[in-house]
Order: sequence, then C-alpha cells, then structure tokens
Amino acid sequence: MNNIAANLAQIHDRIETACQRSGRNPEEVRLIAVSKVKPAELVEEAFHAGQKLFGESYVQEFRDKQPLVTAPVQWHFIGGLQTNKVKYLRNKVAMIHSVDRLSLAEEINRQWGKNGEIGDVLLQVNVGDEASKSGCAPDDLKNLIQTIAQLPHLRICGLMCLPPHADDPEQVRPFFKQLRELSEQIDSLQLPGVSMAELSMGMSGDFEVAVEEGATLVRVGTAIFGARIKKV
Ligand SMILES: *Cc1c(COP(=O)(O)O)cnc(C)c1O
Repeated sequence: MNNIAANLAQIHDRIETACQRSGRNPEEVRLIAVSKVKPAELVEEAFHAGQKLFGESYVQEFRDKQPLVTAPVQWHFIGGLQTNKVKYLRNKVAMIHSVDRLSLAEEINRQWGKNGEIGDVLLQVNVGDEASKSGCAPDDLKNLIQTIAQLPHLRICGLMCLPPHADDPEQVRPFFKQLRELSEQIDSLQLPGVSMAELSMGMSGDFEVAVEEGATLVRVGTAIFGARIKKV
C-alpha cells in the first residue's frame, strides 16, 4: 500500500538534512510532486497531506486529470511540449519548465497574451548533451534567453535540467553544478526581465544532491507515489 503522507514527510526530512549539509535554508526549496500516470485521487490524497505543487509531463493526461482534481493545487508542466498543445495549458499551469526553443516560447507568449497574462517559464538545458533529450544546448542558452526575454507575455524565472540517468546520484552532481553555474553566468548579465531565481533539478533518485547544488524546485514522483507502470 502507498503511504503518501509518510513518504512526503520523509522527503521533507531528507530535503532539510541536505539543506543543513550545504548551509541552505529549507524554505528556499519547494517540492513538486510528479503525479504523471497517477490518478486524480492520489493527487487529492497528497494535497490533504499538505502537498501543494504538482508536476505533469503529458498534455493529454493532464487535460483528463486536471478537471477531476478539485483541491486548489498548483500545477507545473514539466514534460516535453509540442507547440500545438500549448493552448491546452493556458490558464491551468503556474509554470512551464520545459521551454527549449524560440517557437515554443512564442506560442506560450501568444496563448498567455490572449488573456493579457504573463506565463512563468523555465529554460530547459540539455546539460548531458544527449542527442535523445530535449533542452537547449548550453552554448545556445544565452542567445535563446536574450531573444525570449523580448516576449511581453512570458517571464523567464530560471533553468531546468533532466540529466542523464545514473544509479549513483554522485554521478549526476556535475550536471547539477553545471546548471547552477550557467544560471549564475546568465544572472551576472543582468538581462532586463530575466530572473534566475529558480533551479528546477533533482528527482527521486538524486534530489538531495540537487538540493546541495542549489535546487529551488525538486521534482519527485516515484518516492511519493510509488513506481509507475512504464508509459509507452
Ligand atoms: C517523471 C519525471 C520526474 C520524476 O521522476 P521520479 O524519478 O519518479 O521522481 C521528474 N522530472 C521530469 C521531467 C519527469 O518527467
């Protein structure tokens, strides 16, 4: 049986310990419960255990699930996003973590602009330089940010990464460090309208290392909700 409340409490303890190790304030780290492939009832259960932020990766699944969740949760979209599906996220998500190209940013700008609103986004960086992964190449990041920063209905809030999988979280540390350093470099440019306040990194297997390296948003699924049946 799942015990979501106990899992959440344990993850908060582990985040706090990682903060102590690295001299950080635990209030700087927010936990996103990744509920992809899990039903609305489990989202509600986690909410009633005190969890407020939830992450989804698949647009169609999110469209089906979101109306079933009546608790006032805050949704974050963290998965790969096709431009023609942005419209389904409008008015429904607080932040999109996976902006990695201009065409996608332009469509978010267009959709959010329809209501005169501003969409909060993170730039996804392909830190592992993996051909199979989405994300902007680290070398292209500065130019992309400068261009996106011109869009009036979009606000850049920071960076996100999904590093190569490794069984040992220490192997992932250099990628988290690289994302933090990129964020510091961009921040030092003081680009108008660009904030580097958020670093979205760390998942079930490596969130403590991510916190030690500066994560402000950790995205944890399996350690809260249990294993997922692999989505095909
Ligand atoms: C699924 C997913 C997660 C959560 O992964 P777990 O290993 O289950 O914690 C985090 N980030 C993204 C982008 C994901 O797609």
